[in-house]
Amino acid sequence: MIDPASAIDGDFDVLVRDGEIAAVERAGTRTNLPNATVVDVSGYWIVPGLIDPHVHLRDPGFPQKETIQTGLHAAAAGGFTTVAAMANTSPVNDSRGTTAYMIEREKEVHSARLVPVSAVTYGLRGIELVDFEAMIEAGSRLFSDDGIPIDDAMVLSRALDEAKRLGYAVALHEEDCALSCNGALNAGEVSKRLGVSGYSDSAESQRVRRDLAIAIGSGAAVHVCHVSTAESLDLIRAARRHGAQVTCEVTPHHFTLDESAAMIWGTNAKMNPPLRSHGDVENLLAAIRDGTIDMIASDHAPHDPDSKRMPQLGAYFAPGHPVPQLDHESAKEFAHAANGVVGLETSLGLALQLVHRSMIEPTRLIEMMSVNPAALLRMEAGTLAVGAIADVTVIDPNLEWTVAPEKFLSKSRNTPFAGMRLKGRAVLTIVAGEIVYDARKA
Ligand SMILES: [Zn+2]
Repeated sequence: MIDPASAIDGDFDVLVRDGEIAAVERAGTRTNLPNATVVDVSGYWIVPGLIDPHVHLRDPGFPQKETIQTGLHAAAAGGFTTVAAMANTSPVNDSRGTTAYMIEREKEVHSARLVPVSAVTYGLRGIELVDFEAMIEAGSRLFSDDGIPIDDAMVLSRALDEAKRLGYAVALHEEDCALSCNGALNAGEVSKRLGVSGYSDSAESQRVRRDLAIAIGSGAAVHVCHVSTAESLDLIRAARRHGAQVTCEVTPHHFTLDESAAMIWGTNAKMNPPLRSHGDVENLLAAIRDGTIDMIASDHAPHDPDSKRMPQLGAYFAPGHPVPQLDHESAKEFAHAANGVVGLETSLGLALQLVHRSMIEPTRLIEMMSVNPAALLRMEAGTLAVGAIADVTVIDPNLEWTVAPEKFLSKSRNTPFAGMRLKGRAVLTIVAGEIVYDARKA
């Protein structure tokens, strides 16, 4: 059992009763438990339920990509007991009604929990603030216009004041569109070689610089989404020294792959922000090790093949193919392909590689995938202390498996990890004491 919040890392038995953790005792202490179901998980890790602070479930609005039902089943299969669903649905989650819809669907599905993320501004238009208080009352627990940056500094400043007053955080998609210029891939050798438009790293870091200056002034809690560049990390470190209340997340694809993945996987390696240089990846890994990065988020972004322009571009890319030179028309298609990759069912496996490569201890992994996301979402979760709600993930850290997109419970298959051999995955996902995913039966 690994429970960083209780400073526990050792062999323990966990007793769950009425949806709560009823007892935690040295393994083998209690042998006779009348009326108890015993699940033998010896050799595995029992950890507080994993929490993904950043996913897109496309519901309401885009059922061909994902629904709350398929998204939450995918989450449970990936070991997540809770996911925070971003607001860029259709309609946008900027009203009580949409938040209520999401929570109702979640209850029907009976799988992982869904935490609605409220938009910061109506329609994600960056102009008029939503009614923060009403959104919290309806059940939203984080504010973000993710996918679209908030360009007007005054709007952001007022949003931070409102979030601070109510005790919640604002999650920021950091992009200066005047610098990113709709770039399809990191501006560099790979974008040049493929002939597609480039997205400079300064497009992210310049906006991080501005927003953290505003955050220091306001004293509000801000969260930098999917940090991807070395310079952004330096700015976050500096802002903390100046008293900023800033947390940040990294995605598994940004710390596992660099820009060269686009030469093999095409638009399945296209996302916003883009995969960066090898040097940036090294810096992200160092920031995971030194604690600069607080949490891992999948940024699960399901898309159907048409949105990814697979009919037009799919034939150009595959492992083993020579690097394609895209003609002008194809390069344009590439730039128009939707951004993002699915991640719920590969996130834990990729994160565990950090442990297997001796970069971090298991405890730190659980902090990044449960304890810290719980704090961001203002949830009483991320612990297996007696009395806590029994959201539990059981992980077999040594199970070897191959990423097979056709087996995903997600509706979408857009991943650059197909065929990758990984070590470690969730075998049981338990929400409020109920098993919602059991790999032994899958
Ligand atoms: Zn996102």
